[in-house]
Amino acid sequence: MSEQDPVAAKVSGAVDAWLRWLPSWSPGTHRGRSRMCRRCTGSPFLAAAGLEGDAPHQVVHALVSRMQRIIDRAVDDYTEHELPTLHAELTGEQLWNAGGFDPGSGLEPEYEGVDLDPETDDEQPFLFTMAELAEQTKPEPPLPRPPLSSAEKQRIRYEIELADRFAGDIGQRLCFALTEHRPRVQAAVQRFVEPQIQALLDELTRNLEPPRN
Ligand SMILES: [Zn+2]
Repeated sequence: MSEQDPVAAKVSGAVDAWLRWLPSWSPGTHRGRSRMCRRCTGSPFLAAAGLEGDAPHQVVHALVSRMQRIIDRAVDDYTEHELPTLHAELTGEQLWNAGGFDPGSGLEPEYEGVDLDPETDDEQPFLFTMAELAEQTKPEPPLPRPPLSSAEKQRIRYEIELADRFAGDIGQRLCFALTEHRPRVQAAVQRFVEPQIQALLDELTRNLEPPRN
């Protein structure tokens, strides 16, 4: 590659960060549900990274979230600089809805977008759940916002379309860049994840075997 696409540079940095995180992964140390979430199911990033096999969800999720962040930040930046009406609307919306406890903000990418509350265990009920806490700290609903004029609405619809198109374009460039990293992604899964899964399976098999004498 001669002149590197800025998206490709970000993808490369995000894959590096994921590779630094991966050796710390182990089954069961991760809070949150283990089944695939909406963000990961059918994500084109999985195919691009060569992770469509049976890699554990948390491993996959950590990479998908990092990729999603690249897109989100690029779209935020584009909106801020190129789409003034949509930007003003989103900023106003944020001010309007500010306050309360948001358990989903400021999380590491491995945790972002996963269910924060573990699956309920009837033997050991939790005293409260993160979802309940967020609900309780939510401020009183504010007065309705002043209505938009129809010209403003039209402008916003147009800018949303531009933002969507921009996001689609970044997503394509990202997937293309991610395919370049497939060998090191797959090698890392083979080295750090598969032996741990194999050990779990071996243990399971041992426990299923009838004891000798
Ligand atoms: Zn996920």
